Amino acid sequence: MCSSSRGRPWAPMELAEDCSDGYFIITRGKARNGLRGIQKGSVGRVQARPKGELSVWLLGASSHTFPRGEVLVRQDDGLFLSRHQAQLLLFVTPAARRLELVANPQLFLAICSLACDDPVLVKHAKAHRPGLLRKVVQIQNKGSLEDFPMLGFEVELLDSDQHYPGRKSGPLPLFSAGDIVQTSSCGPANAQWAWPNKPSEGLDLKIASWFGSLLSLGPPEGGGDDLGPSEEPLLEVGSMVELVTNKGAPAYGVLRWMGTIKGKKRTWAGVELDREATNGTDGTFGSHRYFTCQRKRAVFVPLNFCRPDARFLPMPAPAPQHGKTAEESHPGIDKDVPPVPEAEALQLLEGRMKGIQGHYNSCYLDAALFSLFSSSAALDGVCQEAASTGGEAPRILKRDIINKLRSQGFVPAESVMNFRKQLGCDSFLTEEKDPEEFVSILLERVLGMKPLLRIRSQNGMTQDAYTFQIILDKDQVGTAPTVQELLDTSFVSCGLQLEETPSCFMVQMPRFGKTYKMFSQIIPSTELDVTDLLHNSPRECFVCGRLAQLECTTCLRDRKLQPGRIKQYCSLCSAQVHAHPLRQDHALHALTVPAEVPEGAPLLRHRLQLYAVLCIRTSHYVAFVKHGPGPHSWLFFDSMADRCGDDRGGFNVPEVRGCPEVGDFLTQPEETQARADLELVSEHVRRLLCDSYMCLYERAPA
Ligand SMILES: [Zn+2]
Ligand SMILES: [Zn+2]
Repeated sequence: MCSSSRGRPWAPMELAEDCSDGYFIITRGKARNGLRGIQKGSVGRVQARPKGELSVWLLGASSHTFPRGEVLVRQDDGLFLSRHQAQLLLFVTPAARRLELVANPQLFLAICSLACDDPVLVKHAKAHRPGLLRKVVQIQNKGSLEDFPMLGFEVELLDSDQHYPGRKSGPLPLFSAGDIVQTSSCGPANAQWAWPNKPSEGLDLKIASWFGSLLSLGPPEGGGDDLGPSEEPLLEVGSMVELVTNKGAPAYGVLRWMGTIKGKKRTWAGVELDREATNGTDGTFGSHRYFTCQRKRAVFVPLNFCRPDARFLPMPAPAPQHGKTAEESHPGIDKDVPPVPEAEALQLLEGRMKGIQGHYNSCYLDAALFSLFSSSAALDGVCQEAASTGGEAPRILKRDIINKLRSQGFVPAESVMNFRKQLGCDSFLTEEKDPEEFVSILLERVLGMKPLLRIRSQNGMTQDAYTFQIILDKDQVGTAPTVQELLDTSFVSCGLQLEETPSCFMVQMPRFGKTYKMFSQIIPSTELDVTDLLHNSPRECFVCGRLAQLECTTCLRDRKLQPGRIKQYCSLCSAQVHAHPLRQDHALHALTVPAEVPEGAPLLRHRLQLYAVLCIRTSHYVAFVKHGPGPHSWLFFDSMADRCGDDRGGFNVPEVRGCPEVGDFLTQPEETQARADLELVSEHVRRLLCDSYMCLYERAPA
């Protein structure tokens, strides 16, 4: 498998049918500035496949632009290509344009299957010009070490009278795959347009009809048209667009077709929206089908009603440009917005350019904010209070991040950057950090909250904390422990107890960032029972369920007694359990039992529910978030799932995906989860088990 695709028109898809063809384009990966960085958009030949990685020999025109040589990349940091595709892409500059092209498989695959005499629409002199592809030419790189010619297209352009001028002498202009914005197979009736064996008869007719549909896309003519003053934007099939609607809020989608419609004067656009429209179709307009998509998703509008999706435009420079501030382009929302309800979460949040947009190493912060606020109301009270009485930071947090996320499903990077500026230290603006540092600053300084955890040590001292780091020896638990086991073991072996049940419990897994993890997999317990961790709180005898009086830390690990669970006994059961010859040296200690607990009263269990898991892999943080009480209501969020453009002018594409398979996995018994074969589980489940960094629990609703 090369990459995942769920059939969205703009989702990355497998470009090469046969991955063994052995070429690769690097489309993502953390931006690393500096000479040794691998530029996204680099194309290379796959040399070898060491476990889980690819060794790629970069092919390139000039060594100072694209570092040459062999690099190691992860398979999900790019896409496999055929040799032909690699040759076409190599001739495309800049590298950012290659990324746009492979992100638009509909167009790119059509370009890859172009042959001589096919009609195409190309970008030429800042306009769209129809023409005929006359020749696919090989361009040999001068000074290149590899014998790997690039491929370009000689295109005969239609003249200004919209007529095909016939073959002229002299060289034809040369175009790269990146200059082609539409092919006939992307046009209407694409099913009938099979070109490889072009019949000589009828060809001209087809070309004529296709060109006919492009008439108004030619170079702008001198006035006189009734198209109005607005210029048609330079969009291409596959472009992400937003539509001006009469309701004010823009609608978003992908441009699937453009051309003329009988009886209409302007150039029209067929757009597949990212949600259903009341008057939407499945790709038909009138009695004609222009493309095919899900029902009620297609709308047809004059092209000048479309503009490039503003969410995909490059980030503005830190200083506001053209007198327009971030505030004007993305106004904040002052009213209180509740968390996204379970039933609406997928519709609002799922997709590309959803969630919180990452920028400059912000993934730790984006993942934490999305986890804490998208679907959980645990911090809403303090947040509201801090925003109304506190300073700028809580106001920006609530208005520009939480409310935007909950009402629009998307927070632009500039809102997060404004918030980062308020955190009191410049290192929050640019540096990679860990979520626990941010969480502590967020809760303490921004929201003015008291520490969530009050932890009592053996000597009776109480420490306050916002998050809890699990500390234990590896051999104290099994190879695939649960968070409950890790927490119990950590508390008991360090002699710690909770003074009270926290409203929110953020538990850090035993690992050090990306460099070391103690367990190759951890089961994230969906429920955390902290009853046995509470100080001065009644506990059940592990055997008979009556009020316990003694605790045995040695029994914790006893293989015959459900290892990993804390063991406390009434005096009778303790005597029986410890009558065993192998248990006679156990260290027991008396529990403090509140005097007011009547004998035989039912015990109240103190439970917390898992609502988010922050994960880390190769210093990049992502989050799994529960978006409702339903066991399958899980979302996966990555603030830098993809990137458009280069390091300087580009921007990150955040993405949210529903992952009900995570719920399927977590509803199995923990023993089954622990035995899961990591080779067979889904990528989401594997990341959840292998990469967990911090598990977030909140008190179950009463
Ligand atoms: Zn007992
Ligand atoms: Zn014991």
